[in-house]
Amino acid sequence: MKNLLEKFNKELKNMSLLQRLEMIADKFPKAVFTSSLGLEDQALTWAIAKNWAIANGSRNIKIVTLQTGRLFLETIELIKTTNERFGLNIIELTPSAASVEEYSAKYGLNGFYDSIQARKACCDFRKIAPLKKGLEGADAWITGLRADQSGYRSQIEFAQWDKKFSLIKFNPLADFSSEKLGELIEENNIPVNPLHKRNYPSIGCEPCTRAIKPGEDERAGRWWWERDQNQECGLHEPEPQPTNHPAN
Ligand code: SF4
Repeated sequence: MKNLLEKFNKELKNMSLLQRLEMIADKFPKAVFTSSLGLEDQALTWAIAKNWAIANGSRNIKIVTLQTGRLFLETIELIKTTNERFGLNIIELTPSAASVEEYSAKYGLNGFYDSIQARKACCDFRKIAPLKKGLEGADAWITGLRADQSGYRSQIEFAQWDKKFSLIKFNPLADFSSEKLGELIEENNIPVNPLHKRNYPSIGCEPCTRAIKPGEDERAGRWWWERDQNQECGLHEPEPQPTNHPAN
């Protein structure tokens, strides 16, 4: 596995974004792209739709999103706009009604403010469990992670082993700066969440996201009350270094 990842990382480094997605789609016909509808993910959705059109629909990548039930109205509207604009049907993964009831009974609907444990429990049933379903049967996982987004994400590579889901995870935007991403979005008139213009560079669930202040990290508005903690929901956590890969 280590050699394969190194090979992919070398190859992907010298490719354009469209070439990267073409290679992944050709080698992994059951690849799944998980979109949060953020800037990165909108750029990837555009690129996947473009590749799909170039290949007359034969080069497909499944696009899913986590409909947690706590999204901003602007995000819900963006799903609709994106589907219409690119002729897609983004699959919305939802938590089970039973898990919503169980959580509310134990912690309260907004119990995630009370402790890290309660917050992680909420992310578990609203995000992780639906994501597991979405990745069932997948042979690769595509994400919009970039290395310059925040501290831990600086370790992001084009191809990595995801231990939690036992899948190769591809990050085709790993080397994109926010400037380069912005140019791509503008040049191609890609629809984006209007909240970005109101200082929300990273957008998750409405109760857990705030606008950032000048000079703050892009992800400082996520779970802001958990100071000095890793601002991640558990979907993309720091991976062990390559020497610790189970396949090594
Ligand atoms: S981001 Fe907040 S509301 Fe959304 S799943 Fe996590 S804790 Fe729950």
